[in-house]
Amino acid sequence: MYSRKIAWNVLNREEIEAFARDYINFINAAKTEREVVDALVNYATKRNFKRLEEVTSIKPGERVYSTFKNKTAIFAVIGRKSLKDGVRLIAAHGDSPRLDPKPLPIMEDTDAQLGLLNIGFYGGIVTYHWVNIPLELRGIVATKKGIKKIRIPNLIITDLLPHLSKKKFAERKGSEVVKGEELKILIANIPVKEEKGYSWKSHVLKILAEKYDIEEEDFISADLEIVPALEAREIGFDSSMIAAYGHDDRVCVYTGFRAFIDLEETEYTRVFWVVDKEEIGSEANTSAQSEFFKYFIAKLLELSGEYSEIAFRECLLKTKAVSADVTAVINPVFKSEIYDVDNAARMGSGVVLEKYSSAAGKSGANEAHAEFIAWLRKILDERNIPWQPGLFISKAEKGIGGGGTISKFMARMGMDVVDMGVGLLGMHSPYEVASKADIFSAYKAYKAFYEKS
Ligand code: MN
Ligand code: MN
Repeated sequence: MYSRKIAWNVLNREEIEAFARDYINFINAAKTEREVVDALVNYATKRNFKRLEEVTSIKPGERVYSTFKNKTAIFAVIGRKSLKDGVRLIAAHGDSPRLDPKPLPIMEDTDAQLGLLNIGFYGGIVTYHWVNIPLELRGIVATKKGIKKIRIPNLIITDLLPHLSKKKFAERKGSEVVKGEELKILIANIPVKEEKGYSWKSHVLKILAEKYDIEEEDFISADLEIVPALEAREIGFDSSMIAAYGHDDRVCVYTGFRAFIDLEETEYTRVFWVVDKEEIGSEANTSAQSEFFKYFIAKLLELSGEYSEIAFRECLLKTKAVSADVTAVINPVFKSEIYDVDNAARMGSGVVLEKYSSAAGKSGANEAHAEFIAWLRKILDERNIPWQPGLFISKAEKGIGGGGTISKFMARMGMDVVDMGVGLLGMHSPYEVASKADIFSAYKAYKAFYEKS
């Protein structure tokens, strides 16, 4: 009979806490996909990783990495076996749902006497989550003169007061309590005096020119992101959970990368890949559907003297992979209405292993093969690592949704791949919650996966 474990009782609590502290430092520093890549490259270079493009040959134990467009990166430690036997790959995404300024975002409302920022969305956000919380602008503006890094830490979107909103909001559907076009970010209240009157927009442009040497047109070539200005926090009377922006999917990025980097030489070449654009369908050249991974593998084969078209295909087909992404755990308030309780994951029962994930009827899903899951769960059980089965689809017969991950794009290259990651409450909100025990269990599980010969 299947019996569910409590990860808190299986894992060492001091180790859980120590790992949680490290993770909090990471998640507070890395709030955009560029910052995630920078942080990982920083860790790697401190541990003697060399740029793949700068090495002339590789041998077992060699540590290499490559980045692409500053938004995706692949790291590898060469193993004792031939690359033709495949690699052990963990991939996670560094992008998170957020608000993105539009190409010409600076506006003003002269009646309200405010400067405003006009924004669109990135990924699946719930609009009403983003009002009345501290926000910040992070990213780069690529001007004709060069790249300007921008960080404006204190912004907000305000809401309508209950005194005036009661009737208006009662008439609206839940998903439209705050409409997308109503999300306007407050950016200024001091105007400059011009011929035709006061201008708040001109004041904002003046600040941008003076402080960053950028003009309005430069916003057209910018990668700017509005993210919650919330520091990660320990949550609960027992401090057992962590609330943070961007657990999806940086909790799997961090646990996967730490598992990758903390190990010594392994039998199989191990690879960690942080991808971008997962939240918007993985279509870009920095996404899981890009050519970057294939380039990296081809280059490794060439540097090891083993490259041929067949060797390249063999490597992909024999690779074992984990798509490391977050999933949903049971929310007690909506338990019976939404979740298939027997099959849904719980907070605190360890890393979640998902055979498939899709909206209904497995359509569009990568379904991991039975033999591969058996191989993986044997590894986890041998090492007494708490894990649990889970399904991102809930009550499919009622048509209640689900979600996809990058596993299907990885599977297309021929590798065996399964979704395994941390369960969250409040996923895709500005402040998602994860259990420290599940985070540590994911780290242990990823490590075991890499180590298994
Ligand atoms: Mn995700
Ligand atoms: Mn997501």
